[in-house]
Amino acid sequence: MKPIGIPAVSGIRDRKVSTPLKSPKRSAIQAQRSSNAVLLKRSAHQTGPAYNLSICILASGSRGNAIFVSDGLTSILVDAGLSGIEIERRMQSKGLCPEDLDAILVSHEHTDHIQGVGVLSRRFNLPVYISPGTKKAAASHLGDVCDFKRFECGTTFQIENLTIHPFSVSHDAQDPAGFTIFQNGTKVGITTDLGIATAMVKEHLKGCSLLILEANHDLAMLIDGPYPWPVKQRIRSRAGHLSNEASKNLLKEIQHERLQHVVLAHLSETNNTPQKALDEVGRALIHPNTKLDVAKQDECSALIHLK
Ligand SMILES: [Zn+2]
Ligand SMILES: [Zn+2]
Repeated sequence: MKPIGIPAVSGIRDRKVSTPLKSPKRSAIQAQRSSNAVLLKRSAHQTGPAYNLSICILASGSRGNAIFVSDGLTSILVDAGLSGIEIERRMQSKGLCPEDLDAILVSHEHTDHIQGVGVLSRRFNLPVYISPGTKKAAASHLGDVCDFKRFECGTTFQIENLTIHPFSVSHDAQDPAGFTIFQNGTKVGITTDLGIATAMVKEHLKGCSLLILEANHDLAMLIDGPYPWPVKQRIRSRAGHLSNEASKNLLKEIQHERLQHVVLAHLSETNNTPQKALDEVGRALIHPNTKLDVAKQDECSALIHLK
């Protein structure tokens, strides 16, 4: 269990800071932070609920995906689909220390989700949580990793403070998973590659405080766009990617008044625009307090602190 420094924002700024720096590199990273970034830390011996969850989408799209999730004590990456060095760079740009990570959780074997998994695992001694089917399909790309931890879709497990529930999604991979992550009464839902939102997927995503949902393409842009017809068919298929319209219909069914934030993810750079995704999916939202954003390919999101 490694305590992590999270830059303060409203809501958790007043909590105590006490853990000494662990490594020269961490010291260097923290020294880079601006003087107004009060570091938040907990002692390693402290247990139980830390903070509510904080999330940063480090990258999202067909050129790489990675999501940082932390409660201040336990910190993980959900996918690591950029190069290891780029993920480190992006974390550091947000004042997050790669040395503080506890694990990497892998959704499926497509390169845009695993490119940096092996190198980060080796560099920071991180266990990799992965399903058997995904592990088999990804083995040659991952190389040696610090430690493989097996999970099965449908079976809940813990990564220290975080409770992870993986569930099967329809996508053209061996054993693709979506995830819900629970901590301290807060639930986050993550599904970024799915061809169709099944009844089971909808059930899993109910009651979340934060949803990271795929809004891959605008259907008209896809149909009129430059991709070869078989690729268009694959994207539209039940094992492909969710359109803006399908994402809107999913959100209509699972939104609720305590849903704080929806982040649209895995947008196609060819067949979608952030504005089209926001406009279409935004039509689903009926609760005024729910914030709607898009995740980007080339820059990190803001650090989202759930209440
Ligand atoms: Zn993907
Ligand atoms: Zn994929």
